[in-house]
Amino acid sequence: MVAVPKTKQMNVLQRTQRVIQDALKKMSCSEEAYELLKEPQRLLTVRIPVKMDDGTTKVFTGYRAQHNDAVGPTKGGIRFHPDVTIEEVKALSMWMSIKCGIASLPYGGGKGGIQCDPRHMSTGELERLSRGYVRAISQIVGPTKDIPAPDVYTNSQIMAWMMDEYSHIREFDSPGFITGKPLVLGGSLGRDSSTAKGVVIVLKEAARVAGLSLQGARIIIQGFGNAGSYLAQFLHNAGAVIVGISDANGALYEPDGLDIPSLLDRRDSFGTVTNLFSNCITNEELLVQPCDILIPAAIANQLTAENAPDIQAKIVVEAANGPTTLEATRLLTKRNILLVPDVLASAGGVIVSYFEWVQNNQGYYWSEKEVEERLESILKASFASVHQTARLQNADMRLAAYMVGLKKMVDASIYRGWIQ
Ligand code: NAD
Repeated sequence: MVAVPKTKQMNVLQRTQRVIQDALKKMSCSEEAYELLKEPQRLLTVRIPVKMDDGTTKVFTGYRAQHNDAVGPTKGGIRFHPDVTIEEVKALSMWMSIKCGIASLPYGGGKGGIQCDPRHMSTGELERLSRGYVRAISQIVGPTKDIPAPDVYTNSQIMAWMMDEYSHIREFDSPGFITGKPLVLGGSLGRDSSTAKGVVIVLKEAARVAGLSLQGARIIIQGFGNAGSYLAQFLHNAGAVIVGISDANGALYEPDGLDIPSLLDRRDSFGTVTNLFSNCITNEELLVQPCDILIPAAIANQLTAENAPDIQAKIVVEAANGPTTLEATRLLTKRNILLVPDVLASAGGVIVSYFEWVQNNQGYYWSEKEVEERLESILKASFASVHQTARLQNADMRLAAYMVGLKKMVDASIYRGWIQ
């Protein structure tokens, strides 16, 4: 098989390639399978000119990656962030493939991103950027080709503008083009909180396996955005004690538990709340504070070889994409800390996105209860399958998750005659 760098400094793409390579090897797949799956099948780079409010034109760079469409159309969010890179978008599209595989969704993975800082853009500028991006990628996306969704710093309003732009281009109403839409435009009940609900479902399964009760468990959540804030709310309601939270500006830690309802009330639309406090610690300090469960729910590369020996949690659940390096995965597993990897833990978002697309295709909408029951049933089965694979194959949970996630993609690629 083709070698990938051995350095500890691998970027997210190289890390993903390494685990895919290891998983395929353990599954006795051909080298062709790795050659096919180590990169997205399709990657489009676009330059989007946007008229800014001051009358100038700014040109933004965006990407859309489609990892593998052997199983079905590709699916994955669109990220608006200044640090978006090609490598990150490619890796995110590959993680989406694995997530869809684990959850047995009829999709491959896709992902998009635009280098921009929506925190410093007006509503009008954001709308023009969102519409410009859809015009730029319209030829390779669509309800049966590649279905976008929200990700970091994008939301249901942005999905609504994108759906409207796509519908104009195609000249018919196309709700199934994108998910994460507002309810009145064909969104699904339960989509907003689906990632967090999914994390809670797999966390309950992990706690059961680790012999821990959620009631009274001390939990640290890094990130207080869409995923992190819903998680804090659900876990607080479930009787857990949220001892730490953070955002991009800093972190709060209180051993007796934070006042979650008040923090939720006071956070802004970008998931920022710590700027209102003077007793903050840093994100780095937060991660190594005493707790039973640690949930990184912000950005990548937070748990590393440097801080993994000091993590005090018994369970780490990755709500964020890529928060743990491979070295840290190894160290945490060696310390018997149960690590629930991102491709399993944060699959709730894409599962309910799939439900939204199904409802759009049927034109028939489900109750929130139906959505939640179906989500729970898929995620419980997904956790069981990954946990059992880890046990039977003597693999860490990340490697096991990749083995489960890659299986259908490899089989479908063989049936299609792409590889042997
Ligand atoms: P969001 O934009 O709503 O919130 C991001 C949060 O992270 C904010 O609180 C922000 O202040 C914080 N943050 C940003 N930079 C930080 C830094 N350097 N250090 C600490 N905190 C920082 O994003 P989200 O939708 O909640 O996504 C969070 C993570 O969950 C991402 O990794 C995303 O890919 C993943 N995820 C989200 C969904 C979803 O449906 N929202 C689905 C799957 C995975």
